[in-house]
Amino acid sequence: MKLEEKNTGVLYIVATPIGNLSDISERAIITLKDVDLIVAEDTRHSKPMLDKLGVSAALLSYHRFNEAARCDELIKRLLNGQSIALISDAGTPLISDPGYRLVRAAHHHHIAVSPIPGACAAVAALSVCGFDSEHFYFAGFLAAKSVARCQQLQQLKSIPAMLIFYESPHRILATLQDMAKILGSHRQALIAREITKRYEDIQRDRLTGLITWLQQDDNHQRGEFVIIIDAPEFSQQQRKVSEKSQQTLEILLEELPLKQAVELAAKLSDAKKNDLYQLALEMKNKSYP
Ligand code: SAM
Repeated sequence: MKLEEKNTGVLYIVATPIGNLSDISERAIITLKDVDLIVAEDTRHSKPMLDKLGVSAALLSYHRFNEAARCDELIKRLLNGQSIALISDAGTPLISDPGYRLVRAAHHHHIAVSPIPGACAAVAALSVCGFDSEHFYFAGFLAAKSVARCQQLQQLKSIPAMLIFYESPHRILATLQDMAKILGSHRQALIAREITKRYEDIQRDRLTGLITWLQQDDNHQRGEFVIIIDAPEFSQQQRKVSEKSQQTLEILLEELPLKQAVELAAKLSDAKKNDLYQLALEMKNKSYP
C-alpha cells in the first residue's frame, strides 16, 4: 500500500539546508507545500526560509521543552488524516535535534513515517575527510565542562572507528585541547567550519596542528563546527609500549630532540629503549594515530 492510501496522515521528516538554501531538495519543497502542518524547532527561525521557498503551510513549534506535550496533539492530527512535516533549524531532524519522541509515537500508532533526506553537517564533513569511512561513530556534542568531557573522550578513545562531533564556537578550542590530551596530540583529525557557507573552511591535520590553526586567528574560532577524529591505528610498536609510556614519550618529543626524548622516556618508564626508539620514529614520521 502507498503511504497516501492509508487513512492516517504521513509524518515526513524533512531535511533543510545547513547554510546554503540551494541545498534544499525539490522533494523537500514539494512536501513542505503539500502538508497540512509544518512542525518546526523554532518557527521564527524557519519562517524566513519557508517564505523564500513560497511555502505557506501552517506552522507549529516543536522543541526540547514542549516535545513531550506536543506529541499527543500531533499524533491525534496524524490519526485524523492530517499530514505533517517535521523540520529542525538546520539539517536533518533527530541528528542532535529534537524529534525522536514524535517518530517513536508515530511508529507506535502505525502511522507512516517517511524521510525526505538532505543536508546533515556530520555526513557533509565525513564526505570530505578522507579518513577510512567504513566505520564511524557519531558522538554529537560533548559535555560543556572539561572534566566530564575528558571522561567521555576516555570512553571513546579506543573505538575502532572514526569519531564525529559537533561543537560550538565558544568551546571549540577547549574541546580540541582536551581531545589532544586524551586521544593523543598526534591523532589525525579534521575541522569542518561553516560548511556550505561563505567562510567554509576544511582543515585536516594532527590535533596539535589544528589547535595552532585555531589560535592563529580569532576568525578561525567563529561559526559552526564539525570535528572528525581518524580511527586509532595501533601499530606493533605501540602494542609493545604501555599507554602511559607512550604519553610520556609523546610529551618529551614535543620538547626535546628524538634521541634525548627516548633516553629520558626509557628512564621514566618501564618500556625498552629500543621499542621507545622505534615508536619515536613512527611518531616523527607521522604514522602515529
Ligand atoms: N540536525 C543538524 C544536522 O543535520 O547536521 C545538526 C543540528 S545541531 C543542533 C547544530 C550543530 O551542527 C552545530 O552546532 C554544528 O556543530 C553542526 N553544524 C550545523 N551546521 C553546520 C555547518 N554549516 N557547518 C559546520 N557545522 C555545522
